[in-house]
This record gives sequence, structure tokens and C-alpha cells, in this order.
Amino acid sequence: METLFTKIINREIPADIVYEDDISLAFKDISPQAPFHVLIIPKKPIATINDIEEGDREVIGHLYYVAGKIAKEHGFDEAGYRVVMNCNNDGGQTVYHIHAHLLAGKPMGWPPYTDRLKVG
Ligand code: 5GP
Repeated sequence: METLFTKIINREIPADIVYEDDISLAFKDISPQAPFHVLIIPKKPIATINDIEEGDREVIGHLYYVAGKIAKEHGFDEAGYRVVMNCNNDGGQTVYHIHAHLLAGKPMGWPPYTDRLKVG
């Protein structure tokens, strides 16, 4: 199923792209949760972590390689940063094309979650 991230890959909707190669694309999050917040996505549309197959191992590993590369290029490697991938509703996933959030630029707390308010 096509998501808006496929449209970003295909340049059908705009994004502030910070990195691209044959396997992945990285772009600024539209609603940043840290001073530096990019999403690193595989060009292959995989809906959730649950849908990762054995043959996807190289693609998934590549996302972490790209995270480290971007962090170094932007000078966050020494201070540190966080890479997270949300899965399904309880994990806070809203776009069903897997993506690693790379968050940097401030010290982060642990545990990382805040409860979402239930309405109704
Ligand atoms: P999730 O909640 O699925 O882990 O993360 C989805 C992320 O995509 C959110 O952080 C959200 O701000 C971001 N996002 C949603 N729509 C757009 C968009 O159109 N452009 C960009 N650049 N980011 C988006």
C-alpha cells in the first residue's frame, strides 16, 4: 500500500532531503521533536517492523549505516543522538512505511515514552 513516503521518494510531494542513495532516503521530519530530526527510510516500502523479511537484512542494516553517516556529517556523533523505529499503534507509528527517526541536538531522557491521552 502506497504511503506519503512513497510520494516523497518519487518527488510527488516535497521534502527537505538530507541524504539519498540506491537503498535509502533521509529527509527532515515535518514536525521535529528535537533540534535535528530526520527520517531515514528504505526505498523499498515495508509497512512495519513485523513485515521485515530475512532478505531485508541488508536494507535494514543500511538504515543504521546511514544514521551514523548523517550524524557524523552534521557533527552529532560525539555528543550523541537517538535512532528509533516505532511499530504499530502502541509504538506510536503513524506512517506505515518503516522509518528510523534520527533525533539529535539536545540531551534526551530515558525512558523515552510519554503516554498518549485517550480521547473519549
Ligand atoms: P511515526 O509516528 O510513524 O513513527 O513517524 C512518522 C513521522 O512522519 C512523524 O514524526 C511525522 O511528523 C512525519 N511526517 C508525517 N507527514 C510528513 C510529511 O508529509 N513530511 C515529512 N517530512 N514528515 C512527515
